[in-house]
Amino acid sequence: MTEEVDLAEAMRIVAHDDPNPYEAVVPPIVQTSLFTFKSYQDMEETYRGLKVRPTYSRGLNPTVRIFEEKLAELERAEDALGFASGMAAISSTVLTFVEPGDRIVCVRHVYPDAYRLFEGLMKRLKVEVTYVDGRDLDQVAAALPGARLFYMESPTSWVMETHDVSTLAALAREHGAVSVIDNSWASPIFQTPVALGCDLVLHSASKYLGGHSDVVAGVVAGSRELIGRIRSGALPYLGGKLSPFDAWLLIRGLRTLPIRMKAHEVAALDIARRLAAHPAVASVQHPRLVGNALPKGLSGTSGLFSFTFKEGIDIPAFADALTVFSLGVSWGGHESLAVPGRVVRAQAAGPNPALAFGIDENSVRLHVGLEGADLLWRDLEAAIGAGLGDRDR
Ligand SMILES: *Cc1c(COP(=O)(O)O)cnc(C)c1O
Repeated sequence: MTEEVDLAEAMRIVAHDDPNPYEAVVPPIVQTSLFTFKSYQDMEETYRGLKVRPTYSRGLNPTVRIFEEKLAELERAEDALGFASGMAAISSTVLTFVEPGDRIVCVRHVYPDAYRLFEGLMKRLKVEVTYVDGRDLDQVAAALPGARLFYMESPTSWVMETHDVSTLAALAREHGAVSVIDNSWASPIFQTPVALGCDLVLHSASKYLGGHSDVVAGVVAGSRELIGRIRSGALPYLGGKLSPFDAWLLIRGLRTLPIRMKAHEVAALDIARRLAAHPAVASVQHPRLVGNALPKGLSGTSGLFSFTFKEGIDIPAFADALTVFSLGVSWGGHESLAVPGRVVRAQAAGPNPALAFGIDENSVRLHVGLEGADLLWRDLEAAIGAGLGDRDR
């Protein structure tokens, strides 16, 4: 299952567009809310479902569709749907498949706002959520009977716990639960969960798919049947549709996704290894530095990981001394970012934040951008020195 990334194939998918009216190398932004009809008959046939064509951009828009088709092909899925944010993709997907009295099984340490959705709105709608350690197959198997939906990330946000995605997807299928995975971290360049047996794969397209920190968007991909249910059951009424301009930015972002992912991988691994060898660092949470091999189906690693300092570092002083890394949430763009764990812990609200987040007081999450590992390491080394009070100098 661990096939090598086929960069050439990925580049073909992201570069190719159907011919557009002007044979422009960049597809047009069809920036319109509605589409008109030539005749009554044309209009009636469209509304009766006899033909498919755009009528209103909350439903179908040609620029959005180009993005959706590219993403579906990259994810080896039959179809995809674009959303106004990753959270719109998550909430619309979950709300399509669960109803009051249902239960969701979710791996621990998921993206904090997905967790807050489960603990807030979903609880109010009488949907229960059971959190499991996704690495413990017995625990997952014990939680699954009766569950409607199985929700996972691999690796998980912040603590980077990786999962055997194909085995978990098979377990969910055995118990009749729809399996959903958030694949924002790996991107389809390094992991294609539908090919591993997951029913649905979703993304915060605000991260690697966009890649330039200039768009907030989301997407979900899967079989024509399941995507059809989200398209007709939740998307039109929750209304979080991807806009034509944002879709256009995503198409542009996708053009370089394969080579950006490779560059993030190389630089982040270099930084992670240097951190692991630094005397001030207690541990590094990077999937390549934990365990011997990447889990089945994960063929590469991206630019996001976290590490934990030993006691004694002044984290605010470390953070303020960074000059190439900026302090900021989100990730997936060209720029390098750092987030001290304690600021996220301070924000964390919810009945049991520790369960879902697992964020250590002395940890820092890094997104390694495209500035080059040597420059970034000099920045980190100097900032660690500042955090230690430059004792050696
Ligand atoms: C950012 C993020 C989301 C949410 O996406 P938005 O586009 O910000 O709504 C979901 N999952 C993961 C893993 C994320 O990092």
